[in-house]
Amino acid sequence: MDTIYDVIILGGGPAGLAAGLYAGRSRLHTLLIEKGADGGQIALSSEVENYPGQLAEGESGPALAARMAKQAENFGVVRCLDTIRSVNLTGSVKILSGSKGDYQGRSVIIAAGSVPKRIGCVNEDKFIGKGISFCAACDAAFFRDLPVFVVGGGDSAVEEALFLTKFARSVTLIHRRDSLRAAKSIQEKAFQNPKISFLWNSVVEKTDGSDLLGSITVRNVKSGEQSVFRADPKDGLLGLFVFIGHDPNTKLFQGVLELENGFIKTDENMRTNLPGVFAAGDIRVKSLRQAVTAAADGAVAAVQAELYIG
Ligand SMILES: Cc1cc2nc3c(=O)[nH]c(=O)nc-3n(C[C@H](O)[C@H](O)[C@H](O)COP(=O)(O)OP(=O)(O)OC[C@H]3O[C@@H](n4cnc5c(N)ncnc54)[C@H](O)[C@@H]3O)c2cc1C
Repeated sequence: MDTIYDVIILGGGPAGLAAGLYAGRSRLHTLLIEKGADGGQIALSSEVENYPGQLAEGESGPALAARMAKQAENFGVVRCLDTIRSVNLTGSVKILSGSKGDYQGRSVIIAAGSVPKRIGCVNEDKFIGKGISFCAACDAAFFRDLPVFVVGGGDSAVEEALFLTKFARSVTLIHRRDSLRAAKSIQEKAFQNPKISFLWNSVVEKTDGSDLLGSITVRNVKSGEQSVFRADPKDGLLGLFVFIGHDPNTKLFQGVLELENGFIKTDENMRTNLPGVFAAGDIRVKSLRQAVTAAADGAVAAVQAELYIG
């Protein structure tokens, strides 16, 4: 508790790791606190093909995150594995309290990202980890030669659907609209893939089964018609992968920082409404939530933290 860091970074996703790199290179005494594995959400991505300068064909999210973490550590960033439970950000010394203790810093960069949204269908909780997944990179191999459904229509959903075709017997993409939001180049790949089919204007209403996910009830939002997709008795299992956006990890900051629709408001220099407190990455109000924009935010926040301390 005696140490007062120049900067404390909360979160080890692309925003936090880039902030660590820039703060470390500026010789700021920097602590990065992460509660789990490095990389945040990018560690859920089976293939990252849009991070600039990335030439490694089909590089996975965890591999990219490992390189980012190593680069930050090379510049002297101190790492700590802990979950922050409460914060006091108003004074000149900011305090973050975690399960293992308190951490003090002259400035704080909040890069705590977001978590995948749930579908909100009947029995969802019961089948998470038993057929329902939010991470193709983690769980695709469990669905080898099984039918798999993917919910969503953005970049992540379509990219992960493509990845799942390497394992699954078939992939059905369920989307609530009649066209995809994903980048055109990714859409083209999906439309050309013989393993992928589409259920348009459709939502998942219910999941069912005894122990494992055995059936999915889908409703057409235009006609109201319901269809039930059941696992083949020989398989005994279906896969349902969900990629429909994220909820920001801002519970700790409610009533402390200015929020908009749950996301932290910043100016273009990542400054929040409190002096010395910056926010970077998916957790803040912005138009594009990607690894490259998160990393860019982290770089700006670290430079601004240095100016603030100076
Ligand atoms: C399946 C999937 C595929 C994707 N594919 C791509 C892609 O191909 N290309 C691309 O550019 N982007 C992709 N994205 C989006 C990209 O991953 C995110 O935009 C990016 O990770 C956001 O970075 P971040 O650092 O802001 O937050 P996050 O990545 O969410 O990291 C936040 C970190 O903070 C930690 N944290 C949160 N709260 C606490 C706490 N209280 N205490 C301690 N630690 C805490 C979390 O554990 C997490 O590690 C994908 C996302 C998903 C889910």
